[in-house]
Amino acid sequence: MAVMRRTGGHLLVQPLPDEHLFSVIARHHLVSAGRTAVDTLNRLDIEPGPLRSQNVFNAAFHSAVPSLAAGLGMSPGELVRRHSLLPLYRIALPANVLSTWEKRWEIGDDASDDAIATLNPNVLCHDASWRYCPRCAEEDVLRHGVEYWHVLHQIPGLERCPLHAVPLRGRCPSCGFSQLKLNDLTLPRPRCGCEPERSLSSALPWDEWLGALLFRLRDAEGVSVEAIVKMLSEVLDLPHPLKVRDRPATAERLKRIEARTGEASLARIFHFYRTEGATFRGRARPNIVWTSLAESFGAARHPLYFLVLLWSLRLTPDQVAAGSADVSEGATLPAASAGLPAAAASETSSRRSGDRQ
Ligand SMILES: [Zn+2]
Ligand SMILES: [Zn+2]
Repeated sequence: MAVMRRTGGHLLVQPLPDEHLFSVIARHHLVSAGRTAVDTLNRLDIEPGPLRSQNVFNAAFHSAVPSLAAGLGMSPGELVRRHSLLPLYRIALPANVLSTWEKRWEIGDDASDDAIATLNPNVLCHDASWRYCPRCAEEDVLRHGVEYWHVLHQIPGLERCPLHAVPLRGRCPSCGFSQLKLNDLTLPRPRCGCEPERSLSSALPWDEWLGALLFRLRDAEGVSVEAIVKMLSEVLDLPHPLKVRDRPATAERLKRIEARTGEASLARIFHFYRTEGATFRGRARPNIVWTSLAESFGAARHPLYFLVLLWSLRLTPDQVAAGSADVSEGATLPAASAGLPAAAASETSSRRSGDRQ
């Protein structure tokens, strides 16, 4: 329920470049000596709830936006644009939801909206913990005297720092440790004694593309799921809007995307590509082309659905930000097996295409 709030208590710190807004709270907590984390959150009028690295839907995030904006003397729009994943999540959000949120932040109302919080993360297997790059942390200490949580490193599906090409520290592959909430208001530092994993399956171009896209979208206007769906429909040569009778055509496009991207790569993001064969929990695997293009209004898809499709189609950050791609080159989706390379990609896709004969 909407409650007017925000008295605008001032913050003791200013946000650093690319700093996540929850990290600003963590540094504020650090210098406001003697308080507990709960006390700091209460004083800032943050609604109870987990402070998650990627969630822009919950009450804690939405109450933090107007409170921090007032405390920092920034507009809420500028705060979420520079200091949260919202610019990236715009690709999965309906325009009317975005404008409703923006209006509520402006009047100091926390704007969590349960109706839209239907991202269905249960089918996703990416690392949703708080993550940092050890090299960025070193540079931050030299430059700013403190390490902090970057928005960049929280991008869902990102595995390496796009700036340093080193694995991000997040969910520990050895002991399973992961920091899913930042409610203790701590800053990045190693939390378990394990050596970080050295070899990763992800290709750096995917990580670089994700990073470039986030930065590009910070300055883009008018990006919403409607624009992204329209662009994807054009590039995939599918009708817009889709009708039920178009479903077989989406299945055909999906086969080509799977062949091009590699199922091993998709398996790092979607649980249903980790299973043998084309079933998942006793049913046909979700068709991510159909679900993203036909079922994304009213019930928001996780942005990873769109990110995977946009990446598979080789759309550039500029094209995504503009909401249009030049499709005059004709075939935009050849059945190539390149993309998100992974060791087992070609093997898996050739085996599966053989199965389908
Ligand atoms: Zn880095
Ligand atoms: Zn560990």
